[in-house]
Amino acid sequence: MQQLIDNFDRKFEYLRLSITDECNFKCNYCLPDGYQRTQKKQFLSEFEIENLLRAFAELGTKKVRITGGEPSLRKDFSSIISIISNTKGIQKVATTTNGFNLFKQAQQWFDAGLDAINVSVDSLDPKTFHLITGKNIFQKVMQGVSASVEVGFKQVKINSVLMKGFNDTDLNLYLDWIKEQPIQLRFIELMQTDDNADFFNKHHLSGNLIKENLLKNGWTQKVGLSHDGPAQVFTHIDYQGEIGLIMPYSKDFCKSCNRLRVSSTGRLHLCLFGEEGVDLRDLLACENDKEALKSRILAALSNKKVSHYLQQGEVGGTPHLASIGG
Ligand code: SAM
Ligand code: SF4
Repeated sequence: MQQLIDNFDRKFEYLRLSITDECNFKCNYCLPDGYQRTQKKQFLSEFEIENLLRAFAELGTKKVRITGGEPSLRKDFSSIISIISNTKGIQKVATTTNGFNLFKQAQQWFDAGLDAINVSVDSLDPKTFHLITGKNIFQKVMQGVSASVEVGFKQVKINSVLMKGFNDTDLNLYLDWIKEQPIQLRFIELMQTDDNADFFNKHHLSGNLIKENLLKNGWTQKVGLSHDGPAQVFTHIDYQGEIGLIMPYSKDFCKSCNRLRVSSTGRLHLCLFGEEGVDLRDLLACENDKEALKSRILAALSNKKVSHYLQQGEVGGTPHLASIGG
């Protein structure tokens, strides 16, 4: 079988598929002015997604994360989950959501075949949550998190973007929460994009501070879990939950890169940063184009660079992560 392996021996079994770039939140680090509809965009249809996934699955993709924008804003979200989970070769379907529709729809997504959920909860203080996201719905999102555990999702993770001056004093609140909850909390270092340079300079906080704190307090780092990708994961005997740290500015972050991305309009992105993507859309409308599609994906992968060069200040081309799917 053909495999997605790049020139640096990295294997790509994980696809992040964006299905919309629209969002109803105004996260201060992502879309502070809300989603701006510039032109009417045609997002990938269910049929195009089906064709795309067949090709990726035949190239060895095993896990798909559906993202956006806010993926659950699409009316056909459950149907998309079902298409992906029924694609031969795909073993795991996950999504990342802001939690707006989670309480209402967790059961529906589970029934459609979703295996895992990441919910963004950038603060456990309702006022700070409101300040960061522009939405005064902290309780509703937390009810959604509980609902996802209750309906039976084996894996519920929480994403929190670390921000000096916003949530840097929340660590103890988070730790108390995961003491009795089997949740993996993932702290993500704020990343600089084209649109957020000033915000980044003011609020970026290194994940190393959290790492030092955890190691001092009896947490130990798990080793060798390749499917966690670039996250460093920590456990503690007294805690049911785990902590993951995603530190894109750390040395060697890109060494364990295991993911490719496809945008909501069908562009293949080899990295979140620094490239404009390869258009796949003309090969998605017809199932007979599958071999040509596979060849194009393989050819594109041979151009994947060894690093995102973020450490060198590279932010090139990505206005915000909602645009290509964070
Ligand atoms: N709307 C969904 C959500 O917020 O969970 C999915 C899309 S969002 C772009 C995916 C993830 O990227 C979220 O966890 C979000 O917090 C994170 N993210 C967005 N912009 C970021 C940035 N500049 N730096 C770090 N993480 C970011
Ligand atoms: Fe929307 Fe997610 Fe961006 Fe927040 S991080 S504005 S929820 S796309």
